[in-house]
Amino acid sequence: MGTSQPDTSTTAQAVFERAPQQLYVGGRWVDAERGATFDVVDPSTGEALCAVADASPADGRAALEAAAAAQASFAATSSRERADTLMRAFDLLHDRIDDLALLMTLEMGKPLAEAHGEIAYAAEFLRHFAGEAVRIDGGYQAAPAGGARFLVAKQPVGPCLLITPWNFPMAMATRKIGPAIAAGCTSVVKPAQQTPLSTLAFVDILREAGLPAGAVNVVTTADATGVMEPLIRSGLARKLSFTGSTKVGRILLEQCADKVLRTSMELGGNAPFIVFEDADLDEAVDGAIAAKMRNMGEACTAANRIYVHQEIIEEFGDRLTEKMSALPVGRGVDDGVRVGPLIDEAARRKVSELVADAVQQGARVLTGGVTPTGQGYFYPPTVLTDVPRSARMADEEIFGPVAPLTPFKDETEVVAAANDTEFGLVSYVYTNDLRRALRVAEAIETGMVGLNQGVVSNPAAPFGGVKQSGLGREGGPTGIEEFLETKYIGIALA
Ligand code: NAP
Repeated sequence: MGTSQPDTSTTAQAVFERAPQQLYVGGRWVDAERGATFDVVDPSTGEALCAVADASPADGRAALEAAAAAQASFAATSSRERADTLMRAFDLLHDRIDDLALLMTLEMGKPLAEAHGEIAYAAEFLRHFAGEAVRIDGGYQAAPAGGARFLVAKQPVGPCLLITPWNFPMAMATRKIGPAIAAGCTSVVKPAQQTPLSTLAFVDILREAGLPAGAVNVVTTADATGVMEPLIRSGLARKLSFTGSTKVGRILLEQCADKVLRTSMELGGNAPFIVFEDADLDEAVDGAIAAKMRNMGEACTAANRIYVHQEIIEEFGDRLTEKMSALPVGRGVDDGVRVGPLIDEAARRKVSELVADAVQQGARVLTGGVTPTGQGYFYPPTVLTDVPRSARMADEEIFGPVAPLTPFKDETEVVAAANDTEFGLVSYVYTNDLRRALRVAEAIETGMVGLNQGVVSNPAAPFGGVKQSGLGREGGPTGIEEFLETKYIGIALA
């Protein structure tokens, strides 16, 4: 499809007719208890697109029982078989990319080109973990004191609960389901209420790719707490992998303590984006737009605080404003659109409140900052300058297309400012001074650093945060370890 414009009225209808909207339990598509459903809404119109199954706690229990029942046989499949399934799913994702991108754009709002990009990125997790599956290793070692041998084996953790957010509905699913399958873990996936369709479509692809019944189950629900808490506390699951807000992550960590579940937590961010006076300004402006505007700013990796050296902040602000104000805003399905709607009215209200708060505290609006009237949850690309430390947006994720600029004087001051947050997911640093780049990259308290680049996500690299941005890593060589236990077998030699 590329950037060509589909006839969305007819194509969308065909895509919805094919899109699964039920629960997937034990290898079968089933209705929720008593046929309950909830609506999926198009954020560019505010209108319902379709209704999907609304799982009850009993439906959730059935899904986890199916996962638990399939665990032993799935763990016994060969890693080559699991890798081959992942590669068939990789191919199918690419074969269906146009339909899947349209489905994602309709339920989530991002421009079609970005939806295409996300599906290609999501597919890469399958290819990456297909490679990791066949390289699960172990060890054999002599005890230091002699007389014994250590055999070290890796085994699947067991049935997993996988909870994903709405902002990257396909990639966040494959980033968890891919390594779970590779490791031989069965799972119950709960996608976000606002974007269930992409995950359901992906799981149908796994079915078509030959994944055994029960290996992956999906529950969609409008009652996340009511359905998931009993599963977390059931004793049937051995792990929870969660991507979402830090607020919900804290609640889930407490629940996981009950049965001492393994956890992976990919939580919120508050990324600093630092531009030193020696940086290439054009590259820094383009990097800031990439780091800020991917997904309309609705990304955990979004640049949330942009610190620019005081000597260049005016020039940087002018160039950023020129480019930001030229970005076309509109429905993600329309040709040439770069900025779609926010996910819902609550998200838009929060962005608008954060902007009002910053302005009240002395920030100046260089472009945007006014909520439009009319259909959909649109918010314009916005640049603020002179944003003070006391502004709420210095502490809270904006999750919208707002770039707040703050001047700084020197390296020590900006590193302290960057670290003055409970979050530690990612940071971005623009400088042409190698020694400074390495000093700052080491001093900054984040799990990932983009040096002269505004996007760090890569399936082959370890993604994750420190501090209250999370626990564990997804992707990269460590991603599969999150789904493996290490078993040590001590052998006495006669
Ligand atoms: P969220 O409100 O925390 O929800 C995330 C998921 O958790 C959704 O599926 C949600 O279901 C579910 N959920 C909410 N409360 C729950 C509960 N009490 N028990 C069980 N499940 C529960 O986050 P979001 O608004 O969807 O996503 C945005 C957040 O995700 C941001 O903070 C962003 O930074 C973070 N994020 C982090 C990463 C990363 O890799 N670090 C990546 C992407 C996003 P419902 O939809 O039904 O509420």
